[in-house]
Amino acid sequence: MTEHTILAETTEVTSNFIRQKIDADTAAHKYQRDGLPSVITRFPPEPNGYLHIGHAKSICLNFGVAQSYGGRCHLRFDDTNPEKESVEYVNSIKDTLKWLGFDWVDAAGEEHLYYASDYFEQLYDFAEKIIEAGYAYIDSQDADTIRAQRGQLHEAGQNSPYRNRPVAESLDIFRRMKAGEFKEGEHVLRAKIDMASSFIAMRDPVIYRIRHVHHHRTGDAWCIYPMYDFTHCISDALEKITHSLCTLEFENNRPLYNWVLARLVEVGALTQPLPEQTEFARLNLTYAITSKRKLLQLVEERQVDGWDDPRMMTLVGVRRRGFTPESIRLFCERIGVSKADSWIDMSVLEQAVRDDLDEKAPRAVAVLKPLKLIIDNFPEGHAEPCKAPVHPHHPDMGERHFKLTKELWIEQDDFMAEPVKGFFRLFVGNKVRLRYGFVIECTGFDVDDQGNVIAVHANYFADSKSGTEGSNNYKVKGNIHWLSDASASPAEIRVYDRLFTDPHPDAGGKDFMQALNPDSKHVSQGYVENSIADAAPETHFQFERHGYFVTDRLDSKTGALVFNRIVGLKDTWKK
Ligand code: ATP
Ligand code: MG
Repeated sequence: MTEHTILAETTEVTSNFIRQKIDADTAAHKYQRDGLPSVITRFPPEPNGYLHIGHAKSICLNFGVAQSYGGRCHLRFDDTNPEKESVEYVNSIKDTLKWLGFDWVDAAGEEHLYYASDYFEQLYDFAEKIIEAGYAYIDSQDADTIRAQRGQLHEAGQNSPYRNRPVAESLDIFRRMKAGEFKEGEHVLRAKIDMASSFIAMRDPVIYRIRHVHHHRTGDAWCIYPMYDFTHCISDALEKITHSLCTLEFENNRPLYNWVLARLVEVGALTQPLPEQTEFARLNLTYAITSKRKLLQLVEERQVDGWDDPRMMTLVGVRRRGFTPESIRLFCERIGVSKADSWIDMSVLEQAVRDDLDEKAPRAVAVLKPLKLIIDNFPEGHAEPCKAPVHPHHPDMGERHFKLTKELWIEQDDFMAEPVKGFFRLFVGNKVRLRYGFVIECTGFDVDDQGNVIAVHANYFADSKSGTEGSNNYKVKGNIHWLSDASASPAEIRVYDRLFTDPHPDAGGKDFMQALNPDSKHVSQGYVENSIADAAPETHFQFERHGYFVTDRLDSKTGALVFNRIVGLKDTWKK
């Protein structure tokens, strides 16, 4: 893989090599079949974990291509490994796909939800057919021996002593395997191709094995299960898929994909035109992990709070973090589709959500780490009405109203007892503007027994209110936000950051657990302005000066608000 990282906001929905192939196939009328669209794609997850950001690329590509050619895209669960699969994963994958804005129900209202396990009967029949035609045999050696005989990249494999087993004998054993007469590993069914092929996948691959395990859909009906390479191409053909898009690691399996389908045409089980596999580069995102197995390890070792931890690059995680479906689709559009593996920088994903939310998220004030401000010369009991637009570019979204009082909450970080060079906000003797309110001058502060600052004192200038003429007489460098008790609701604020500090946490077999960011989650008790006190779960805001936030979809309730930070206003990771 190239070490080159893509930072730029590159491609739009422009052409790519996949669209070019589809255009060529359409021009040649390759998939003209009665009553069927000329483009049928599929997204084929294995229900052995939660989808991650990498899957979003495949989903957007498969569903996107189908949509733009007036075709359809199937959701197919590739559920042939019963030990690792479950209904929990199936349901989550369906939810996530819908959340992203895609649907397996086509324009005509027809459902296209499939399971490879629905084809077990047909797959079995097809396997018998190719045994009968002499294209597959039962091998009775153990897995280690078979593996050892497979050879190396530049060294041919060895034929199995069972390779020339009579067809009738293979057929008989295969039927008895199905009937449950044997233990796991006693026999396997292998395709008879070429033990000297330059493609290791073509060296008599195993296509069926014995597994005495319960399947989440077929129960105990089967004790033999087909392998991926046999199942996938046949499932594609049975569903009349035209373009089977998959990631580059399957490139070496393409000859096998074509071999299986061609043999089935030969024996009269399938007809032309056949689906064709085209590979594209998988998404690798910096500062993230996109492997279900490693994500599972983070969950099991409790490095995160579950699959939907807002720091996880699972799609349930990014959703909970506050990324919108539009932002994920925008991200996938921007990264485009290519034939060469590369890294996409996390900032591209973060920028996509800023670009999506900037125009639509209502603005609000939130004080994340409150510190008391006392305006000593402010009239006791007075509440000065202040206002701000809900969105600076969209007056139609309305106004927010809040009251300025003698005591306010400001951000701890906006005050320094001993200001460092370049600090323009509150310190004794300095003036700042309280956004939408008055200019104040800091006069002192109170500390507790331990020396912690517990309150800041200031005086205000009554003729300095924002929006009045007098305000122009005051030139200040700092402009800070605030809330008064009269206009604020308490809220829990969860500030998240990237889960890893290393841009390539698992590259080259590195231990990604060593690269965990110890500062990826900060929880504080703060305040938000009252205008958003009724915010429903999963509502997005821009908190002024802080960034984009969302009400947590599970934990936030009226009266007990919880916000997650999605991203800051600017990229702070840039070097
Ligand atoms: P993992 O390696 O995380 O287990 P997988 O490839 O085994 O992922 P599947 O459920 O088999 O996961 O994947 C479903 C589809 O999503 C496949 O077509 C696969 O090629 C595609 N896909 C998986 N990961 C990525 C990725 N990082 N980028 C693009 N497509 C991906
Ligand atoms: Mg897979």
